[in-house]
Amino acid sequence: MTENNKFPIVHLINAPENPLKTIYLACRTCYSAQYPHEIWEKDVEPEKMLKLVRKVLQSGHHSTIEHCQYTFTISGVTRACTHQLVRHRHMSFSQKSQRYVTEQGQFEYITPPTIKTPELKQEYDGLMEQIAKFYDRMIEQGIPAEDARFVLPNATTSSLVTSLNLREMIHLANLRLCVNAQHEIRKLTKKMCGLIIEKEPWLAEYLVIKCDKQGYCDEIKSCGRFPQQVK
Ligand SMILES: Cc1cc2nc3c(=O)[nH]c(=O)nc-3n(C[C@H](O)[C@H](O)[C@H](O)COP(=O)(O)OP(=O)(O)OC[C@H]3O[C@@H](n4cnc5c(N)ncnc54)[C@H](O)[C@@H]3O)c2cc1C
Repeated sequence: MTENNKFPIVHLINAPENPLKTIYLACRTCYSAQYPHEIWEKDVEPEKMLKLVRKVLQSGHHSTIEHCQYTFTISGVTRACTHQLVRHRHMSFSQKSQRYVTEQGQFEYITPPTIKTPELKQEYDGLMEQIAKFYDRMIEQGIPAEDARFVLPNATTSSLVTSLNLREMIHLANLRLCVNAQHEIRKLTKKMCGLIIEKEPWLAEYLVIKCDKQGYCDEIKSCGRFPQQVK
């Protein structure tokens, strides 16, 4: 398949019911003589909750947002992309195994959008076909899937379930929405952020590129949106 707007396919399957109130509760508990359940039982205006939450987050008290957990299903992403995603150590993953699931027949792969000319695309597809044939031959000759997969390219698609808390989601957005991040993980992160913001528009101010938050760029290769400050 050629990469297009449909991919990656991302669904938010679990999200906290009341994240603002949960974070507010975490913040208030730190500064209140009341029991936390008493704070929880009170109705508080969203604006008031947001004011405190913003103040606490500005002061760097980020453990308060770790109470909000999100679960996504992701498919139609390359192994090149998932390899980058799994570098995020506060995310939990369950990914389709290339040991237990064989890729017989033409395996699903993605063509990057930079492959534009018909000649190059034809060559690319031809190579994928050749790999698939050789992979199949290995499986038929009794090579275990865990070894036959050695020939599968980074372009092979994968599926996974991933969970992360809001603190890590913000960190992921800060790093992976940047133009210096690879286009596929950038697209994936944008979709993940979009699904959360759809439910909780107030989170839009946090699910941003780090330069939007910092007011400067600390990347070695800057896109020029903000003045560069490389330490
Ligand atoms: C544009 C871009 C280019 C990249 N290029 C490369 C590359 O060429 N090669 C490469 O190998 N990687 C590369 N990476 C991956 C990068 O080095 C990180 O591994 C990845 O972004 C995960 O980030 P993290 O470690 O901050 O976050 P997470 O693992 O998500 O952790 C979040 C935060 O928790 C804290 N933390 C987590 N674990 C520890 C720990 N063990 N000790 C102390 N604090 C911890 C840190 O504050 C960390 O920032 C790139 C990433 C980006 C965004």
